[in-house]
Amino acid sequence: MNRNVDIDQISDGKRYDANDMAKLGVDDCSGCHACCTGMGDSITLDPYDVYRLEKGLGKTFEELLTENLELRVADGVILPCLKMGAGDACTFLNDEGRCSIHPHRPGICRLFPLGRIYENDTHKYFLQIHECHKERQTKIKIKKWIDTPDFARYESYIDKWHYSLKNITDCAKEMPQEQLKQVNMMLLQRFYIADYDTTQDFYTQFEERMAVWTA
Ligand code: SF4
Ligand code: SF4
Repeated sequence: MNRNVDIDQISDGKRYDANDMAKLGVDDCSGCHACCTGMGDSITLDPYDVYRLEKGLGKTFEELLTENLELRVADGVILPCLKMGAGDACTFLNDEGRCSIHPHRPGICRLFPLGRIYENDTHKYFLQIHECHKERQTKIKIKKWIDTPDFARYESYIDKWHYSLKNITDCAKEMPQEQLKQVNMMLLQRFYIADYDTTQDFYTQFEERMAVWTA
């Protein structure tokens, strides 16, 4: 979702591309799980996040929704996000204060403390400087940090999903309530509730769903 913040106030003032190096490395998060606690409904999931969770945990979207996810409304659009549970912590945080689903964690968790800024039909990265509780010492290439295979396809997908959602949120402002409700139901059904075939490539399935959505 879009946030109305002055990027220069919260970042080091630079814009990064996927092949750039940024000061991201922190020796060990031990004793800290601040970025997995008290996040409210801010960790929104995109369809690839749900595919990763379905594949990694062997659960359907509806099963995930009963324990680990919830639905949020922002700018008129309903999307799933991580649920905060006991102690206001993410339900995937284990007793040792570690992420129990690290290989399958959502894109926002992979990105942190980076953010994305969308311009000219694509995006750049920026480094949030006030969010992590430990000093970031070593430089790491951004695409290595995000740790997602097939990175060029992933970035292209991220742009397509972002601008499609932006289109919907722009239209939502003027849409009659009943129509908006139907759009939300279709969006959820098409991109989240209808299970992905996790033995098959995600991006092909996403493109097929997007083609029907935009037809
Ligand atoms: S999914 Fe893992 S990394 Fe993300 S907020 Fe939950 S515990 Fe933290
Ligand atoms: S706030 Fe920083 S140090 Fe703390 S868990 Fe998150 S990444 Fe690690």
